[in-house]
Amino acid sequence: MSNVKRLSKSRALVLFSGGQDSTTCLAYALDRFYYVETIGFDYGQRNAIELTCRLKVLNELKQNFPNWATKLGQDRVLDLSTFSSLSSSALTDKTQDITVGETGLPTTFVPGRNLFFFHYAAVIGYNRDLGVLVGGMCETDYAGYPDCRQKTIQHLNRTLNLGMETDFEILTPLMLSSKAQSWQLAYELGDEPLIDIIRQYSHTCYQGVRDELHDWGYGCGACPACDLRRKGYQIWQDAN
Ligand code: ZN
Repeated sequence: MSNVKRLSKSRALVLFSGGQDSTTCLAYALDRFYYVETIGFDYGQRNAIELTCRLKVLNELKQNFPNWATKLGQDRVLDLSTFSSLSSSALTDKTQDITVGETGLPTTFVPGRNLFFFHYAAVIGYNRDLGVLVGGMCETDYAGYPDCRQKTIQHLNRTLNLGMETDFEILTPLMLSSKAQSWQLAYELGDEPLIDIIRQYSHTCYQGVRDELHDWGYGCGACPACDLRRKGYQIWQDAN
């Protein structure tokens, strides 16, 4: 019998894409943990602009939040270009329209994506003693992506701990939040400076549009991702 490998619960690894949700989750982790590393994935996403935005967000967080800057450790982007060659999705293939597919899921669904991401994160966490894995999955507002459901993540957490004989804790702070509540959480964590960073530097739009700054941020305003972000912002503003 091997012994369970106990990992530090004050050291976290955040799945950080540079979007609104993962930026909020990163702030959440920096507020809560002693040491935080970040990981991004280049899986041939439709708009590689996300990967540029995540560096800007990281830089802005360091500039504006000195207390957080001291906690931020290594950032990595893993090349998962083989991933997009395995399946077809509107998120990785610009020729596809963003609609609802035969299964009732949007064509932006990339099967297994978050499962894959957490497996990679766990391998790194195991070796770097990062016992908390943080992701921005949310089952409330989204279009029913099965790998964003709380149940999926809970089972995955158990599977990873069984398969690696360890004690990871997966945290998904936005799992049950609406987009308006995500804006509110960001405000509570970092006040106006964090809201400004999210508005100006985080990227959400499926179409990769960043030509005009709206009060809710950059984006086409019409794709499902922009629509959620815009409506959430308006609801949050109206409530404050
Ligand atoms: Zn858009």
